[in-house]
Amino acid sequence: MIEITKSNIEKAINKARQTKPFVKVLEFRRYSVTNKTTGANYTIKFTKINNRKFAECNCKATVVCYHIGASIGAHIVLAEQMHTATAA
Ligand SMILES: [Zn+2]
Repeated sequence: MIEITKSNIEKAINKARQTKPFVKVLEFRRYSVTNKTTGANYTIKFTKINNRKFAECNCKATVVCYHIGASIGAHIVLAEQMHTATAA
């Protein structure tokens, strides 16, 4: 599990923008990211502990990888929708 910080997620998002992988929502906080070129598929999980965000990806990277960068966009949108739904 890796902690998401403003700087490491920015790098990951930039890399994801270049790679443009396919992101699929498996369930809230769980995503599947597929590299369209190689077909490689990874599962990403997000966790929130004491207001700090953590992510986990099953690829071999030990940093915040672009799979996390690609799925966090979808995650933020979904989390906001859930939040709005709860507040309503
Ligand atoms: Zn990864």
